[in-house]
Amino acid sequence: MAEELERQRERAPAQFGGLDYAPAPEATDHVSLRADHGLLIGGRWVAPASERRFKTINPATEEVLAEVAEAGEEDVDAAVKAARAAYAKVWSRMPGAERAKYLYRIARILQERAREFAVLETMNGGKPIKESRDVDLPLAAAHFFYHAGWADKLDYAFPGRRPAPLGVAAQVIPWNFPLLMAAWKLAPALAAGNTVVLKPAETTSLTALRLGEVLLEAELPEGVVNILTGAGATGAALVGHGGVDKVAFTGSTEVGKAIQRTLAGSGKKLTLELGGKAANIVFEDAPLDQAVEGIVNGIYFNQGHVCCAGSRLLVQESIAEPLVDKLKRRMATLRVGDPLDKNTDVGAINSRAQLDKITELVASGEADGAQAWQAPCELPTRGFWFRPTVFTSVAQSYRIAQEEIFGPVLSVLTFRTPDEAVEKANNTPYGLSAGVWTDKGSRILELANRMRAGVVWANTFNRFDPASPFGGYKESGFGREGGRHGLAAYLDLSS
Ligand code: NDP
Repeated sequence: MAEELERQRERAPAQFGGLDYAPAPEATDHVSLRADHGLLIGGRWVAPASERRFKTINPATEEVLAEVAEAGEEDVDAAVKAARAAYAKVWSRMPGAERAKYLYRIARILQERAREFAVLETMNGGKPIKESRDVDLPLAAAHFFYHAGWADKLDYAFPGRRPAPLGVAAQVIPWNFPLLMAAWKLAPALAAGNTVVLKPAETTSLTALRLGEVLLEAELPEGVVNILTGAGATGAALVGHGGVDKVAFTGSTEVGKAIQRTLAGSGKKLTLELGGKAANIVFEDAPLDQAVEGIVNGIYFNQGHVCCAGSRLLVQESIAEPLVDKLKRRMATLRVGDPLDKNTDVGAINSRAQLDKITELVASGEADGAQAWQAPCELPTRGFWFRPTVFTSVAQSYRIAQEEIFGPVLSVLTFRTPDEAVEKANNTPYGLSAGVWTDKGSRILELANRMRAGVVWANTFNRFDPASPFGGYKESGFGREGGRHGLAAYLDLSS
């Protein structure tokens, strides 16, 4: 009875004396939206030679925010040529200590304009303001700061080698962390002495374009970074351009494979950071309340639009019931809705296409026989939304246990022994990340060794640091981003 009362109180605090949160919307009046945007080529904003444009919206309201240029082949060619000229004449010849000054400057401007960027990221992508403000922006600045520190120390980073830049890097990024992914890609490339052509995702171009303004404000020499907005065809034209020396891609495994086919035999350097289906493993000796917070952070952070999301919860059988019960109670307290509200935990799904994909996969889970439970919350009438969902009675063969859903949907499986946990965790075509929750340090070390995952978090989840290499095994891609390993991907270390 007491437990039921507590449950009710958590689900509907307003009934118990109006303890619900008041709205706390972040103001948007300090973000000036431009009606239309050009392409950043050779240090100038130019209209697309393709003359094509598309609209970009706020997924929480479906309101059109701006028009964005769609770069065609001619634009791609102009951008690659601008990057080549900047590489040959300026950037590859500049001492590392001088390159570092630009990176520091970019980092500082990002910090100064953090509020504006966070609001714009939330408006264009749908993620909660508390995440764009507290995660995306600080980490984006941190990536520039960190790599600025390496720019004049490459000889020390790779002793006995003569590190040399590769040339022009083509970088294609996804929509789940638009500014942060741009920072992940640009900072190491620039620190290593390469120039760049960057293609942001179609649904989330606005912060990348505003980053272009920051680069101009930092007086980065013209052509060192070129930004081409557009859709998949723009990305394909860029990665297939003959003037590119290195390709870095983050996105779906399907497109990653297509890029690999395009580059096969070309001798160009390639790094792929693709999908994931991470196991988050909870042993019976784990602190359950702490684990519940980690599970929630693992799958409901950024609406589950996270390549390393802990989308498969593996629970030791003896604690499955109490853990899932605690998890549901915690999920009932998640605040879903207006991403600009500072109390919101789960924002809008990034696009209608992504919402359709999540809906279809959840329907397949129900048809397969898994039991879905959804957090009881009211969803706004406009925009794209999905309730935080947990599936129990999941078999390993179900699509919801195998495929990347990329939404706020968790599949729960159980295990009895550590061996079974490892076997189930590795039973996936992916291998990007994993989590282990246990009181035993020795077990953490043993499991980390046996798990085919690029990152293994212990008693935590979704932690990122520019100094820590990130990347996958198997269909999650290859190459690392972050740390010295990430720098190596932008350098020729053969001599
Ligand atoms: P994509 O892989 O299509 O998009 C990633 C980036 O690649 C975007 O900039 C995209 O452009 C671009 N792109 C698309 N096609 C090509 C191509 N042929 N050559 C070069 N670049 C291309 O992901 P989606 O946005 O279509 O999402 C589909 C699924 O992929 C999601 O449901 C999710 O499961 C997974 N995904 C995984 C991510 C990860 O970080 N691992 C990130 C994003 C998605 P544009 O956006 O304009 O189409």
